[in-house]
Amino acid sequence: MTIYDQHMHTLYSFDSEAQLRDYLTQTKAPVVTTEHLEFDNPDDGGRDNLPDYARMKATQAALAEKFPNEFLLGIEAGYFAPADARFRQYLDNHDFDLTLLSFHHDGHYDYLDEQLITMPAKQQLEDYFERMLAGLKRFHDADVLAHFDYALRRFDITPDQLEAWGKPLLDQIFTIAVENDLALELNTKSMYRWGNAPLYDQAIAWYQAAGGHLFTIGSDAHEGPQYEANFADALAMLKRHGVKEIATYRQHQRTMVPIEPPVIDADNAY
Ligand SMILES: [Zn+2]
Ligand SMILES: [Zn+2]
Repeated sequence: MTIYDQHMHTLYSFDSEAQLRDYLTQTKAPVVTTEHLEFDNPDDGGRDNLPDYARMKATQAALAEKFPNEFLLGIEAGYFAPADARFRQYLDNHDFDLTLLSFHHDGHYDYLDEQLITMPAKQQLEDYFERMLAGLKRFHDADVLAHFDYALRRFDITPDQLEAWGKPLLDQIFTIAVENDLALELNTKSMYRWGNAPLYDQAIAWYQAAGGHLFTIGSDAHEGPQYEANFADALAMLKRHGVKEIATYRQHQRTMVPIEPPVIDADNAY
């Protein structure tokens, strides 16, 4: 049992050129890709992005002859309410080990686009969390709530602002997440490339206060070198919150992996 990266992209995502082997060469741990399932995607000309399942499986099969890793297949499912039926149809018809649930755009712009980051921070935050809350009420058949702070990445939002503007909505979001066994993802790209680690420090406590105890860590790598970036930092943060294990997923079944391996008493280890 080992902790491993549970959020990575390859060329089967519209915004990545990475090869699966770029990750396999770095680890003996299980490898799980989570390509974008996205509808009416403003970052891709309004197209629907449906990962080519047969080709993903064929790529895994070819590499399984050369690499000893366990191959798992996940999906980063971007929910957009007007595409609810198309979204469910794809998920109902394809088998995955792990479903990450994300909210990336408002139908006109991705939350990282220039047009939205000129909005007042409070307005962007409220629009995003309201969209997430409404989406979670309609769809929560996933394993993990990915990057809860996605729309805040390009803003300098302080922990006090997150509390003042976002906590009432986040409390409702985390309550639904907990009721449906959704893990909270520590997205190390958000935390350490976009500087939102202090917001995660708060959100972990609020998710725990809602009864949450399931956590995953994902680098959100779109290129090989980002694999497991800052995992030690994220694990240290979880330990400060008293978290003792990480959830990993196969066929949507959880295996809890201890953060600290059990200590073997040397005197008694014959
Ligand atoms: Zn994402
Ligand atoms: Zn991603």
